[in-house]
Amino acid sequence: MNAHVSQGHWPVLVLNADFRPLSYYPLSLWSWQDAIKAVFLDRVNIVAHYDQAVHSPTLQMQLPSVVSLKSFVKPTTHPAFTRFNVFLRDRFACQYCGSPEDLTFDHIIPRSKGGQTTWENVVAACSPCNLRKGNLTPVQAKMFPRQHAFAPTVHQLHRNGRLFPPNYLHDSWLDYLYWDTELDP
Ligand SMILES: [Zn+2]
Repeated sequence: MNAHVSQGHWPVLVLNADFRPLSYYPLSLWSWQDAIKAVFLDRVNIVAHYDQAVHSPTLQMQLPSVVSLKSFVKPTTHPAFTRFNVFLRDRFACQYCGSPEDLTFDHIIPRSKGGQTTWENVVAACSPCNLRKGNLTPVQAKMFPRQHAFAPTVHQLHRNGRLFPPNYLHDSWLDYLYWDTELDP
């Protein structure tokens, strides 16, 4: 295959057999190499293409931009506990003062006092609030998160995700991401 189509570019959106993204948070993306491998293994259908093509001596192929799995995989309902997903749950706002600037993560019960790194104990906090709270509990610091920290469902993150679309989406992905009425009751 042609070497100047570099790895890391041309991400491919992966849809389940029902044409919804295999996962939203994180968004199911494969490298184009993995997507083409899956095409040749007959595991996916190509739904949409980039304009970009790759060549081998015997073959020219347009890079897929969207593929769908041939067999349905039961989607996860529990999003991964990741930094991005904590910010998304908290709508990219400090849970103490509401600021969207300079966001960090605060352990509600500090780790030094046995607090865990979990959905229920980590919230978005701006650095000034995080510094001010330091190693204190909410009661000691008299600082309480605006919303109860909780493990969100995919649907809850999806609702927030619509407020903060990712910076880069290929045009061909859009139809599969943000107009899914069943996920937006
Ligand atoms: Zn703050």
